[in-house]
Amino acid sequence: MKDAAPKTIYLKDYTPFGFTVEEVHLTFDLAPGATRVKSRIRFAPRGGADDRRFFLHGEDLTLIRAAIDGKEVQPTLTAEGLTCDVPDAAFTWEAEVEIDPAGNTALEGLYMSNGMYCTQCEAEGFRKITYYPDRPDVMSTFTVRINGDLPVMLSNGNPVQQGEGWAEWHDPWPKPAYLFALVAGDLVAHSDSFTTCSGKEVDLNLWVRPGDEGKCAWGMEALKKSMRWDEEVYGREYDLEVFNIVAVDDFNMGAMENKGLNIFNSSAVLASPETATDANFERIEAIIAHEYFHNWTGNRITCRDWFQLCLKEGLTVFRDAQFTADMRSEPVKRISDVIDLRARQFPEDNGPLAHPVRPESFQEINNFYTATVYEKGAEVIGMLKRLVGDAAYAEALDLYFARHDGEACTIEDWLRVFEDVTGRDLGQFKRWYSQAGTPRLKVEEDWQDGTYTLTFTQTTPPSAASPEPQPQVIPINLGLLGPNGDEVKETETLEMTEARQAFTFTGLSAKPVPSILRGFSAPVILDRDSSTAERAFLLAHDTDPFNRWEAGGALARATLNAMALEDAAPDAAYLDGMLAVLRDDTLDPAYRALMLALPGQSELAAMQAEAGHTPDPRAIWTACETLRQALAQHAQDTLPRIWETCRIDAPYRPDAEQSGKRALAGAVLSLITRLDGGALAASQYGSADNMTLQVSALSCLLKAGKGQAETAAFYAQWQQDRLVIDKWFMLQVLQAAPETAAATAKTLTEHADFNWKNPNRFRAVLGALTGNHAGFHAADGAGYALLADWLIRLDPVNPQTTARMCAAFQTWRRYDARRQGLIRAQLDRIAAQPGLSRDTTEMITRIQGN
Ligand code: ZN
Repeated sequence: MKDAAPKTIYLKDYTPFGFTVEEVHLTFDLAPGATRVKSRIRFAPRGGADDRRFFLHGEDLTLIRAAIDGKEVQPTLTAEGLTCDVPDAAFTWEAEVEIDPAGNTALEGLYMSNGMYCTQCEAEGFRKITYYPDRPDVMSTFTVRINGDLPVMLSNGNPVQQGEGWAEWHDPWPKPAYLFALVAGDLVAHSDSFTTCSGKEVDLNLWVRPGDEGKCAWGMEALKKSMRWDEEVYGREYDLEVFNIVAVDDFNMGAMENKGLNIFNSSAVLASPETATDANFERIEAIIAHEYFHNWTGNRITCRDWFQLCLKEGLTVFRDAQFTADMRSEPVKRISDVIDLRARQFPEDNGPLAHPVRPESFQEINNFYTATVYEKGAEVIGMLKRLVGDAAYAEALDLYFARHDGEACTIEDWLRVFEDVTGRDLGQFKRWYSQAGTPRLKVEEDWQDGTYTLTFTQTTPPSAASPEPQPQVIPINLGLLGPNGDEVKETETLEMTEARQAFTFTGLSAKPVPSILRGFSAPVILDRDSSTAERAFLLAHDTDPFNRWEAGGALARATLNAMALEDAAPDAAYLDGMLAVLRDDTLDPAYRALMLALPGQSELAAMQAEAGHTPDPRAIWTACETLRQALAQHAQDTLPRIWETCRIDAPYRPDAEQSGKRALAGAVLSLITRLDGGALAASQYGSADNMTLQVSALSCLLKAGKGQAETAAFYAQWQQDRLVIDKWFMLQVLQAAPETAAATAKTLTEHADFNWKNPNRFRAVLGALTGNHAGFHAADGAGYALLADWLIRLDPVNPQTTARMCAAFQTWRRYDARRQGLIRAQLDRIAAQPGLSRDTTEMITRIQGN
């Protein structure tokens, strides 16, 4: 059990470890309930260190024996590790501990998943494997021997030797302990190879459980594309003889970049056309790339301490987004990322969990693997690139790799390479790393005698994390359109640094229409009172695909808010604009599909709250339903034709072209279902030969309150496939009407296949419930109570996943007094649980705002 007393760790308290680790030798004698781990570690006092206390982290370990230079010692054991008197010069530490992988349900450290041993060490899991300075700034080479009776036994680096019942691995690249990994199990490999740019041959293996061999091809393709791309775009070559990926069913996150041995949640790597959707394929491609790119941004150059997490995560998310944009469509990727940012990061940045991209304190680091660190962290890098330009960005990255290879770095190191390359002072820019909250950008315009002036005002709401926010550097990409829709000024990056700042444009023959924040050039909330006519104009004419999409979204938000708050009728400008987009066959189908989607209901609630209203989730849901119905009727003559143009005769490929067509067809099907009572969806379900078509048809039917027979048939067909059954659980909750969502979720938690200790399955039901906005926030509080019940149950088993899911309550202050009371009661109930984990305690306390 974790230490219950909450202790806050501060960035300002950083001190280096008093010793260096020269090499680490580990021997594992595997046994499910009692694995022995022997360590032999060479320590040397670090020159210049003033703290020579020898403290090693350790949790849930049974110490069998410890020795220094071969002589037994009796260390002092503490709740968090051990201390020991050590010599003044270099010495060899040896320890033997016993651990219990089979009893490890937290999925951190060494644990078991379906009879297979695997590890998860980031952030602080290695201390559950042996006593060690478990901090990212302590780097060492590792040699690992695994003794066990399993056919496949893997660790980091290159294979040294293996025999009956044992295998030995050596990783020549010094690394922090959080990148350590071990896997042992009855696994089969899907193998391939890659020749690097300098001609080295690398063995590639994707290890899976027998039966999953048919779901490996896409992940392997994605890996090879990623390796090539990182060579071509960033000049980064792979640096070991092998690259192994393992799929495991029980995993808290998406995947983990352990050096040479990436471990993946099976949902983030396994795919076949029959069992995975286009969206799954795209996500897999992105996650494979992400973990692979970490080899340089994270592993070769790592973080000095966990406050610097965005150093590796923000940069690696930025790199994987560039990769996806290159593999697929740049505007589609950008729009998808902004949808995600608004859905996950904005609520965090504007609620009780707000924290800077580089936090300054934490109690449990696992709670800081957030949308702010990852996604806003990537936005900050995008802004930096926009400000310095592509050439300087490339030069700065080269310098970063050259200067810091093999080091554990900070955000200061990162910014310094940009300052050195460009000569710029990035002092003010650095506020993006230290200041929480989403800046609001207000725009006023003025037109006089051929001179057009835009005046921007930026304000960031104060938060507990940043009580006095200062003006940030905001790159504002701007273009101007003439009255006939022609672009009169191409995109330029305006650099805003003041709280209020004006930009003037001359030589214009008529008052232009501004296209502001093109490509979403900064993660801010643009506050502009533009007219319906102007939005419709931009939707029709903007040359920037992002802002064209944004104009459609602005029309949708305006009409939905008016419908929900004032009982207004659907806006004809929105309906006409969407119909024009739908019919425009020159537009990429994937882009049209994004256009047709409505803004998220939670996002609408946030906007209404910000404007001083009390959002009613049921009214927002009704507005969305009404608008979709109106659009279906408005477009009814066009829908069948579009549906036809999306037909695909070629064999299934999850590439951008085919998935775009299927996405548009799915969007059209959801509208047609509102008109034909589900006839087309039922026929699509019956003839579907891939999971994308199966899921889109079933979703439409469930949404329409139908599909009972299909739901049963789906279960019967896929009962043996965990990943598909996760979808079965999820869809039923996600598509349920507000009044029935909680009851549906509750019934599903009673299903024999609701294996709640598996994070994917838990999220499939409870995560889907929180994603059904009106259902989760149903007035009777049943959604809140059900989630709380399950969080309470999961916490002792898996604190990390429990704590992450507490975030569903973070928006409680937006809603009416009754709902606030209901949520607070659940928060209090969770907080009162005896022995609540440090993870969940920290999250609940922050959400309560006490
Ligand atoms: Zn990452």
